[in-house]
Amino acid sequence: MGFGYMEGTCGKCGEKTREPGNAFAYGSPIRFCPKCKQEYLDRRWREVAVQGFDPKSTSVAYYAKAFLILFAITALSGGWLYYTMHFKGYYYTMVVAIVIVCAIACVACLGLMVWIALGFAAKSNAKYLAESERRMRNPEYVKKLQACGYVIPAKYLAETLGTPQE
Ligand SMILES: [Zn+2]
Repeated sequence: MGFGYMEGTCGKCGEKTREPGNAFAYGSPIRFCPKCKQEYLDRRWREVAVQGFDPKSTSVAYYAKAFLILFAITALSGGWLYYTMHFKGYYYTMVVAIVIVCAIACVACLGLMVWIALGFAAKSNAKYLAESERRMRNPEYVKKLQACGYVIPAKYLAETLGTPQE
């Protein structure tokens, strides 16, 4: 999971690619290489109309659990830091770093919990699903995905490719 950018490698020419991405890589696994101008497959991207959403993306419980774990680590290492500074007269830089990083991660988890609880995550997922469905209505695109080994849901086989149902 990474915010902001997705880094990859073009499967055709080997060029390193870097493009805007979302935390759960919702988007087409068929990417376009700006260098060789060819399409290549990157399975890390998730075509949500086919693969569904990552359950974490709308789970308050997931981030609540992460928050509790991170909070415990922050509290324990903070306590240790306090103890060594006050009673021993020294501290480890590593412990300071752990306290800072975990505290920031705690705040990020809280932020994500609020984001999900207020319905923003669901709204953003709906936008990704609409984009995905738009791609899935293009027969050329569906055939390409199928050729890459993706199992196309019956709905798109019927509606986009016009394959009769058995
Ligand atoms: Zn390329």
